Amino acid sequence: MLRVAVVGSGPSGVYAAQTLVQQREVPGVLVDVLDRLPAPYGLVRYGVAPDHEKIKSLQGNLRAVLEDERIRFLGNVEVGGPALPTGRLLELYHAVVYCVGAARDRMLDVPGEDLPGVHSATAFVNWYSAHPDAEAEDFALAGVRSAVVVGAGNVAVDVTRMLARGEAELRATDMPQPALGALAGSGVREVAMVARRGPSQGKFTTKELRELGTLPGVDPVVDPAELALDPAYADPRAPLPAVNRRNVEVLRSWAAAPAGGGGRRIALRFFLRPVEVLAGPDGRAAGVRFERTLPDGRGGVTGTGAYEDVEAQLVLRSVGYRGVALPGLPFDAARGTVPHAAGRVLRAGRASVGEYVAGWIKRGPTGVIGTNRPCAKETASALLQDAPALARRELPGDPLTAMRAAGLLHPVEWTGWQAIERAEQELGGSLGRRSVKIPDWPGLLGAAGVPVSR
Ligand code: NAP
Repeated sequence: MLRVAVVGSGPSGVYAAQTLVQQREVPGVLVDVLDRLPAPYGLVRYGVAPDHEKIKSLQGNLRAVLEDERIRFLGNVEVGGPALPTGRLLELYHAVVYCVGAARDRMLDVPGEDLPGVHSATAFVNWYSAHPDAEAEDFALAGVRSAVVVGAGNVAVDVTRMLARGEAELRATDMPQPALGALAGSGVREVAMVARRGPSQGKFTTKELRELGTLPGVDPVVDPAELALDPAYADPRAPLPAVNRRNVEVLRSWAAAPAGGGGRRIALRFFLRPVEVLAGPDGRAAGVRFERTLPDGRGGVTGTGAYEDVEAQLVLRSVGYRGVALPGLPFDAARGTVPHAAGRVLRAGRASVGEYVAGWIKRGPTGVIGTNRPCAKETASALLQDAPALARRELPGDPLTAMRAAGLLHPVEWTGWQAIERAEQELGGSLGRRSVKIPDWPGLLGAAGVPVSR
C-alpha cells in the first residue's frame, strides 16, 4: 500500500489524485486530497466566473474522481500551520503532492494603489464567488459609475464582464445574495479594460474576448486609431500566433461597428500603462492616470511622456497571480514557484524524498484548466516511479486518526461536503434561485457539521 496526500483540491490536485489511482504499475495506492477550505474544487469553485456554467460543470468530472473509493476528500485542513506542519504531513504519508496554486495577486506599484476603491481582481472574484476569506464590505457599488480594470488577461475579461452583466443574467448563477444585490444595483455605466501593450499582445483567449460583445445591453468600444498603433494590428498579414490573430480580428470587427445604443459600455483600451491612482475630494479613488506607450519593436513598450486620466470610482488591478511560500517547503521567490524537476521538489538542487508539486505552484500561474492535466500527470508519473522506495517506510496508521487525535483539526469529509451542497440548494430555494453559495466560514462549517473554531 502507498499512502499519498495531495494538498489542494483544485484541478491540478484532483488530476494528480486521478492519475495516481487510475494506473496499473503500482497497486494499492490510497490518496487523501486535503484542502484548507471546507469545499473542494479550488479555482473551479472559487475562480471560474459564476456565469461560465460550462466551465463550472467541470466540477462534475472532479466530483467523480473524488468519489473514487481509493480517494478521500478532507476539507478544512490547513497544511503548513501549527496544527499540521509540512514535516508532520510527510510522517503521516509516504508522499505528499503540493497543488496549492498561486494565492496572491500582483501589485501595480504605483502611488494611490492603497486608496479606498482600489482592489485586486482576486478580491473581487473571491467576493462574487463566495470565498469565505473575502472582505464583503469592500464592494458597495451603488456610487460607482465608471470602473477601470488594469490588465488584459482572462481574469481582467472575467471581472469586466461581471461588472457589465445585468441582474437577470446574474440571478441565474450561484453567486451569494449580497454580491448579486450589489452588482445588480450598481450604477456602473462604463468599464474600461486597459492594456499596457497592444491588441495583438492581449493575454486573453478569443472565446473570452468575443463574449464581451454578446452581453445584452452592453456595447464593446474600441478606438481604431489606438489599435492602429500596433504594427501587427495595422497589417492584417502580420504573422501572429493563432489566438492573437483571432483576437485582433474580433477587435477589428468592433472597431468597424457603429456605436450601439446599449446602456453600458465596455471600452477596450491599449498602449496605456498605469502611473497613479488619483484621489477624489472624498479621499477615494476617482480615476487612474495612464502614460501613453508605444511599441518598442521588441515586443515591449516605451513611455511617451503623454498622459491620460480615465475616470473610475472602482479600480481593479488584474495583473496576474503569484505563488506564496508554504512554511517548510523550498520556494523560488523570484518565480513564485517551488523548485522542482519533473514535479519532484528540489532541496538544494536534489530531489527531496516524498515531496512533489503540480499546478500553478509548480509552473506558475499560466494556462487554462486543462493545462493542469499533463502537468499533474508528469508529477504523478515521477511519484509512481519512486513508489517502490517510498512504500518501504512504515507509517503510524490512518492519517485521519492522527489528525483528529491532536484535537486541532476538524476535517470536513465527503459527507460533510455533501451536506454543504444540500444547504446551498436549500438556501437557493428559499431565495427563489437555484443553488446559492454559502459565503462564510461559520455557515460552511455549520452546514458540514464540524466545530466552528474560527
Ligand atoms: P495573465 O494572463 O498573466 O494576464 C496578466 C495581464 O496583466 C497581462 O495583460 C499583463 O500585461 C498585465 N500586466 C502585468 N503587470 C502589469 C502592470 N504592472 N501594469 C499593467 N499591466 C500589467 O493573468 P490572469 O488574467 O490573472 O490569468 C491567469 C491565468 O488564468 C491565465 O493563464 C489565464 O488564461 C487563466 N484564466 C483562464 C480563464 C478562462 O479560461 N476563462 C479565466 C480566468 C483565468 P503584459 O502582457 O504586458 O505583461
